[in-house]
Amino acid sequence: MRHLRAHAWKIAAATAVGGAALAGLRTAAGSPVRSAPTVATAGAGIAAVGLMAYERLSPRSWLYGPVFWHARTTERVVALTFDDGPCHPYTGQLLEILDREGIRATFFQVGNNVRREPKLAAEVASQHEVGNHTFTHPHLVWSRPCTVREQLLRGQEAIHDATGALPGIFRVPHGWYGPQVISTAEELGMRCVGWSVMAWDWDRPQRDVIQRRILRGVRPGGVTLLHDGQGTDAFPKADRSHTVAAVPHIIRSLKANGYGFLTLPELMDLEARGRHPR
Ligand SMILES: [Zn+2]
Repeated sequence: MRHLRAHAWKIAAATAVGGAALAGLRTAAGSPVRSAPTVATAGAGIAAVGLMAYERLSPRSWLYGPVFWHARTTERVVALTFDDGPCHPYTGQLLEILDREGIRATFFQVGNNVRREPKLAAEVASQHEVGNHTFTHPHLVWSRPCTVREQLLRGQEAIHDATGALPGIFRVPHGWYGPQVISTAEELGMRCVGWSVMAWDWDRPQRDVIQRRILRGVRPGGVTLLHDGQGTDAFPKADRSHTVAAVPHIIRSLKANGYGFLTLPELMDLEARGRHPR
């Protein structure tokens, strides 16, 4: 069964169109623009439009369908996620850090980068969870369903060719979901994923800034977003040295605060068990 929320956006759209139309009709029929019912219907329409726009641009979208961005739990667990790889040398450096710390993480790989670095992609998949992050990292929020489908399928194909794995999770580039993105991912057998805390590390802030932003925002059941690549760019244009430098301290601080580390599917399982305890 499709999630009920997949239909919620239609109600919002009807409110938006209906509110605007009713306010327009009342004004055309001679009611003062500032009369209470006209203002109320126009307000409802504007609010619905605002909600629809916000939900398209939110990594925690709910209006257009389910996007997993944290687990509702009091357990001190967190999922580390890295986007836009694989990208030499940063992905390999992260693998070494994670290996040293005995942690498994989740990497949302860009198909084009997987084609460029198939061995690195396979190395990631042999130890960690891999998710689909499209083929060329485009903005998909206003794209047609066929474009979304092509991006997701080509991403799956590249990852499968290199690693033998077929991801069951998808994160949209830039975090902007639309109804056609969520429904297409679901049709292709992937659950959509957002995040609960990020460090704006694409702007290459200093290591301590990245550390502070992540550590300040982590809560039990959280999903962190950092980057081991930059879109479809390769080294040296994609410079993730600050992020890589920040990760050891982030892990050690979280461990010192009693946090354990799960992959995204493990965190999703934890959430599901919490809702349906056996
Ligand atoms: Zn990305």
